[in-house]
Amino acid sequence: MRRVVRLDLSSESAQGMEREQARADARRADRALNVEAAWRRARRNKPLREACDTLRAMAGNRERCMYCGDAHGSDIDHFWPKAPYPERMFRWPNMLLCCAECGRIKGTQFPLSDGQAILIDPTVDDPWLFLDFDPQTGNIVPRYDSKREAYILRGEQTVAILQFDRREAMARGYQRTFRRITRRVEAALTQQHPDAAALLHDLGEADDHGLLGWCFDGLGRHVAPFDAPFDELRARHPTVWEACRQGYRQL
Ligand SMILES: [Zn+2]
Repeated sequence: MRRVVRLDLSSESAQGMEREQARADARRADRALNVEAAWRRARRNKPLREACDTLRAMAGNRERCMYCGDAHGSDIDHFWPKAPYPERMFRWPNMLLCCAECGRIKGTQFPLSDGQAILIDPTVDDPWLFLDFDPQTGNIVPRYDSKREAYILRGEQTVAILQFDRREAMARGYQRTFRRITRRVEAALTQQHPDAAALLHDLGEADDHGLLGWCFDGLGRHVAPFDAPFDELRARHPTVWEACRQGYRQL
């Protein structure tokens, strides 16, 4: 899972969505709103086509699902599900790009804590504050808080809701990406003076799944022996390591 920067819609599409939401709200007040029918109708129109294109642009070159980061992002997901929360159905900040499997698994599951979402929103949250990666299995697992001696709730719930620790193809994808990232760092370490910009470019090419966040800022910094090449890079070329750590967020 990678942190995603939300782009703005054109003012024309933003206004079009406002009108759709106002229309849905009015129909709901009259108890005449059919959520699925309203969505299907609006989905064909320009504002939502633009919203889908913008989500694809936000998801990067590979247009990956914003939840699993593994499969192709094929459609708009309502972070707050539209059936129980139709008042957010046409709200741009409530839209993410997701794959068919994450959409099916998530369904209308959406636990709250004090009225706040528990599920990680990659356009708002840094996923690696809540999640961890297990290089041995390739699974995305909840992050463990050693001070509280418990798993972090939002990570635990996100993994459970999206079944991140039970999806074999996804785990294999994460392992492949992790091996590619590690090889890029190892290749840089064979050079006497590795070039930070070149390494950062290579790392960006290798990182299909948003794992650089885990490697540079998440718990990946502390998982021996998997952190060995990263540790070596940090020890021998601290400015290169820091440039990569600062730079991956802009990739
Ligand atoms: Zn997915």
